Amino acid sequence: MLDQTVLDETRARIDLAAALRMTARANMHEAVANHYSVALSPDGMRFLINPKWMHFARVRASDLILVDMNDPDSQMRRPDLDTTAQVIHGQVHARCPAARVIMHLHPVMTTALASIDPPQMPAIDQNSARYFNRLAVDLHYGGMANSEEEGARLASLLGDKSRLLMGNHGIMITAATVGEAWDDIYTFDRAAQIVVGAMSTGRPLKYLSDEAAEQTAKDWEGIASFSIRHFEEMKLILDKECPDYRD
Ligand SMILES: [Zn+2]
Repeated sequence: MLDQTVLDETRARIDLAAALRMTARANMHEAVANHYSVALSPDGMRFLINPKWMHFARVRASDLILVDMNDPDSQMRRPDLDTTAQVIHGQVHARCPAARVIMHLHPVMTTALASIDPPQMPAIDQNSARYFNRLAVDLHYGGMANSEEEGARLASLLGDKSRLLMGNHGIMITAATVGEAWDDIYTFDRAAQIVVGAMSTGRPLKYLSDEAAEQTAKDWEGIASFSIRHFEEMKLILDKECPDYRD
């Protein structure tokens, strides 16, 4: 009889490795920094995360580290586990049950919008309106985070939102599945490219009305299957061009 837990972990490993590869292809990665994680247990205490300082473009399913926050000794045995990522992702997984998947990046245009005053994603088109009134913002960047207190602070800032625009820093996206998180962080950076491009013309932005922006955000929420399809299509491309992500 097949063990469902093993099946779930195998699927999570493959999807997470795929998302990391896709991120590198989209040039949204930051050198060999940044982390993605996916919770395996309902309480978020067991999760998979990418290894410290391994390029996203090389990660395979078997490279992902299984962290068990209830078993500190297991973490001591993994020198390739980035403790900074572990404390931040560990706190958010434990405190935000809906955040089954957490992705944190510093993509260039996203970080540009995180670095204007105030950090924002103005609703000026279909992509940017997806985040209308659906974005938490952190205004208190204080250096490279490496404490559980910082993880708890970020979790409380998220509140009932699934996205945190991290001022002077980058973005954190959470979702129920890897595919939804990937499509969301990808679309966020696409939106950021459009907004920064529009701002760079020096002409005034043509904001959507609140009604149109709200309706557009709702429309996006009604087509979660689009996000999944985007992710699955990208996996088919990876299967053809670099199938070793599944190893
Ligand atoms: Zn960061």
